[in-house]
Amino acid sequence: RTLADIPAAWARRRGDAVAVKFEDRETSFSELDARANRVAHALRVTGFRPGDRVSALTKNHDSWYPLFFGTARARACFAPINCRLAPAEIGFILGDAAPRLLFVGEDFFDCALAAVADLPAPPLLIALYGEHPAFLPLETWLGGAGDAPLADAPELADDVLQLYTSGTTGLPKGVVLTNRNYRAFLEAATEVDGFAYGEDETVMIVMPLFHVAGTNVSFSGLAQGGRLVLVKDFAAADALHMMRRERVAHAFLAPAMIQMMLLDPGAVEGGFPELRSIAYGASPIAEDVLRRARQAFGCDFVQFYGMTESAGGGSYLAPAAHDLPGKLTSCGKPWPGIEMAILDGDGRALGVGEIGEIAIRGAIVMKEYWDRAAATEETLAGGWLHTGDVGCRDADGFYYVHDRIKDMIVSGGENVYPAEVESAIMGCPGVADVAVIGVPDDKWGEAVKALIVPAAGAQPDPADIVAWARERIAAYKVPKSVEFIDALPRNPSGKVLRRELRAPFWEGRDRAVG
Ligand code: ATP
Ligand code: MG
Repeated sequence: RTLADIPAAWARRRGDAVAVKFEDRETSFSELDARANRVAHALRVTGFRPGDRVSALTKNHDSWYPLFFGTARARACFAPINCRLAPAEIGFILGDAAPRLLFVGEDFFDCALAAVADLPAPPLLIALYGEHPAFLPLETWLGGAGDAPLADAPELADDVLQLYTSGTTGLPKGVVLTNRNYRAFLEAATEVDGFAYGEDETVMIVMPLFHVAGTNVSFSGLAQGGRLVLVKDFAAADALHMMRRERVAHAFLAPAMIQMMLLDPGAVEGGFPELRSIAYGASPIAEDVLRRARQAFGCDFVQFYGMTESAGGGSYLAPAAHDLPGKLTSCGKPWPGIEMAILDGDGRALGVGEIGEIAIRGAIVMKEYWDRAAATEETLAGGWLHTGDVGCRDADGFYYVHDRIKDMIVSGGENVYPAEVESAIMGCPGVADVAVIGVPDDKWGEAVKALIVPAAGAQPDPADIVAWARERIAAYKVPKSVEFIDALPRNPSGKVLRRELRAPFWEGRDRAVG
């Protein structure tokens, strides 16, 4: 009924089956259930009440699962933190979520101490793994907590997760998701290719567990009795090796991860006989990358479009739809039980082919942004989740996400979507990666600029890149300038931070948005 019930339900049915494998350690469903119960008891002993927040600052680690399920069982709300942020940014999130406990992995002990230094009411610090004199060891905190279930069960209205948005367009916002949201997520996900797994199938988790893709693929896998193989740090070669060794059947990968895997053609050679599906999403994928990936992996590909505010749900491009003419650039159709629409600036629904803001409605939509009533009201205006993405719908009901409203370039009165320009340039020989931004321009208002990461050993000519683009997209979308860069700044979910790339060009000026 709720996320908290998952370990116990499978402990009864298949208690000895492996729920999570991490490095060389395996945790069965029975062990996961017993450990989650200990966490729940310890939280109650600490005086935790429904609605209290618990946070974690860690790389992916198997102790995350009993911590999350135990927190949910005690009806507290789990607010994991992006461990790649700087201490000041982590301090901001801790100030926002105000957790009473912060569980920290050993790589982040110093970072956590710096982050809590200026907080008026710092949380109690607990070492999730590793040791440090300023952190209470997890086992000490658990003490004599028993592993029998708690008497009272969570309720559907309870806040269960407070996930922070990726902070791609600004400061991360705390998205409050309830058990009701996740019941809707699981009901829909298990009917959707790429999230529907067989009992006993292995699901690889490489997305971070502080991002909605990492949490949700985990929940979906465990809810269906699957076996999770958890990866601490993503490295293309290791992930590919693990896919073979662990007989991975399903994985969710960010497009940037797929791109890195394809850089090493030897690594994908021979295929992956056990692999059934690769789900991809969280950011746009270049068509060329998608075509090459489908060929290299030879399994089903499923695209997901969604966001933290919709508990990760939204639309999906089913495997078969990838072969329909013209649909490869689509993000597919709404999940079962979810409605989507394209809205104009006044919140009115637009028709086929008309361009506007993508909106989502249904039981998966968040309860609120934590402690931000005005932002909640704006984002949920008129009963729709306003996604901040521009897009359209075709006559067959397929949706297309053009880009984020905030990243759209207005050049000479025409709208240019950076993702479309990036996708066009991505296949150009000598180009390993590309980001497109708008820079100030006296004549055009904004001019399209491409920042290019050259392929290893290549020295592409800017004129060739422009010529390549001119053959593929309308003249007004073609970059007016090209610059080379060593690497693109990306956040842990693989999203390019275009605002960081834009900043030096806009110093001292205001950029009109949307
Ligand atoms: P913030 O809201 O803090 O700026 P964010 O929007 O990146 O960060 P997430 O909730 O992780 O935080 O990401 C959701 C966004 O990711 C969507 O609004 C959309 O812009 C993008 N996205 C997700 N899936 C896809 C997809 N399949 N294709 C293109 N873009 C996608
Ligand atoms: Mg967002």
